[in-house]
Formats: sequence, structure tokens, C-alpha cells
Amino acid sequence: MAKILVATEKPFAAVAVKGIREVVEGAGMELALLEKYTEKAQLLDAVKDADAVIIRSDKVDAEVLDAAKNLKIVVRAGAGYDNVDLDAATAHKVCVMNTPGQNSNAVAELVFGMLVYGVRNFYNGTSGTELKGKKLGILAYGNVGRNVARIAKGFGMEVYAYDAFCPASVIEADGVKAVASTADLFKACQIVSLHIPATAETKGSINFELMNSMPKGAIVVNTARKEVMDEAGLAKMLEERPDFKYLTDIMPAIHAELAEKYAGRYFSTPKKMGAQTAEANINAGIAAAKQIVDFLVNGNEKYRVNK
Ligand code: NAD
Repeated sequence: MAKILVATEKPFAAVAVKGIREVVEGAGMELALLEKYTEKAQLLDAVKDADAVIIRSDKVDAEVLDAAKNLKIVVRAGAGYDNVDLDAATAHKVCVMNTPGQNSNAVAELVFGMLVYGVRNFYNGTSGTELKGKKLGILAYGNVGRNVARIAKGFGMEVYAYDAFCPASVIEADGVKAVASTADLFKACQIVSLHIPATAETKGSINFELMNSMPKGAIVVNTARKEVMDEAGLAKMLEERPDFKYLTDIMPAIHAELAEKYAGRYFSTPKKMGAQTAEANINAGIAAAKQIVDFLVNGNEKYRVNK
């Protein structure tokens, strides 16, 4: 009987685990749980006889893959899969998938939670501004970016987007203005929301020059990854542009310094929480379980992200 392991340092909501169990056991497979583990050794032990693993932000590297002799598939319940060593997985003949789109509304709603907080001066009692009529630039028009565009229209914002791989015609079909480059997006928009994945090209790509080209009252909101931000450039921007605010769901390495120096213009959630909703947990967890069953039974590789 195939054994599906759910290995989550930060567990799913109980209702999501119940849904995963129903899918796995309904397909005649066995479910094993490793939740809130504190040592890598626990993960190495738990994966020993697993055919499939469902993870969240948990790291799967060559050592984990070496220990998992029966492993055929790892599914990252979520969008970003930079916590999985894809080359090592390919070398071990293990299929890696994510569950695209399942948490994107949750992340998009958090963008607006942070934006309202930002334009109302962190609720400090002073007069702020509205989002209505402001230009919002969406960097990467993927699953989260599209949801941000949908909600932004409800706020009455002017929405712009740039995506290196999504054609302008697709963006424009949603009533969003497509621009030709990341640089054009930052120049045009007072508010920019980041939705690029952390890749070799995007790491450190949001730099001082880009941010400094933004109009007065600039705000950058980051629910993507901390790695995409050039932190030295961010510190310089906060120092040189007193009109600039940075709102992030992913705490930078220099968080303590920024929080102290730029209170009122810099905000980070205490822990990445974009996808931390009951709905996103359930959607991503159940999608992961269904993708595993479909892969093991039918060989469906639709959401494969490694070679
Ligand atoms: P997605 O894969 O649906 O979309 C990513 C988009 O980025 C794609 O449209 C792609 O064409 C575009 N892209 C890739 N490289 C680019 C580049 N160099 N320049 C411009 N566009 C580029 O992913 P998503 O679900 O929209 O999520 C986006 C990112 O947000 C994820 O990679 C993840 O890192 C992050 N995320 C964070 C949370 C959170 O909890 N804060 C939750 C989900 C996702």
C-alpha cells in the first residue's frame, strides 16, 4: 500500500488534514503525519518508507532525498517551491509539483490589508490617503497578481502590470494596462506589488534605482519572497526617500534595524502569513493529495516543476 507522508514543521489546519486523509484513504493509500518537527533527523526518519510527501515551507534537499528510498513524488502545498532542491530531485528521479492558484486569493487579500494600513499611516490617528484613483503596478501577472488586479479594480485603482512571460494581450484582456518592462512599471506607479518568484534572475532585482524612480509617496508591498529585494538598496531608499513606505510579508534579514529606524514607514508581518487562511490551507492541502493520487495511479504530471 502506497504511503503518503505529510511533513509539516508548520502544520496544516486540522480541517485540511481531514480533507487530505479522505483523499488518500479514499484511494486505498496510507496517510502518515509528521507535524511540528524540530529536528531534521525526524524528517529523515519519517521519509524512509514514504512513496510520496506533502510539504509546506519544509526544506527538501539531497540529504532528505537520499534517505527517502521509495520516494516518487514531493508536492509543495503552495506556490513557491524554492525550498525544494529541484536538481537533486531530478537526479533522484523524484517528481516535484506545486499547487498553483490554491492560495492566491489569500495572498492578494493580505496585499490590500497591508496597503490600507500603509496609506492610513499605520493607523496612527493622522490623516492618510485613499487607494482609489492611485496607480498600482503589479510585478508578475501570475495567480496572485491576477487576484490583486481583480481586487484593485474594486478599490477603483488604475491597474498596471508587467510579466516577463505572460503576453500583454492576456493582461490587457483583464482591463489592466500592460507595460513593457519592470523599469516602466516602477516609473509609472506610486504603488508596486511584487509577485515574482525567487529565481536566479529575480534575486536582488528590486534595487534602489528601480524604487527611486517611483513617483512621490511611493509604496512597495512584498508578498513574494525576501530574496527578490536588494536589502542594501531598500535601506538606502528608506533613508533617502522620507516619502517611501515598505510593507512586507517576508521579514528581511535587516528587519530589526529597519523597524527601529523607520517605524511608521516600514512594516513586516512577524511570520510569512500570506497563505495562512483556513481556505488556502484546505485548498492547497487537498489539491496536493489529489495530485499525488493522480500521479501514482494515472501518471499525471500536469503540475510537475522539475525536469
Ligand atoms: P505564479 O507561478 O502563478 O506566477 C508567477 C509569475 O511570475 C508568472 O506569471 C511568471 O511568468 C512571472 N515571472 C517569472 N519570472 C519573472 C520575471 N523575471 N519578471 C517578471 N515576471 C516573472 O505564482 P503565484 O502563485 O502568483 O505566486 C507568486 C510568488 O509569490 C511565488 O513564487 C511565491 O514566491 C510567492 N508567494 C508567497 C506567499 C506568501 O505566503 N506570502 C504565498 C504564495 C506565493
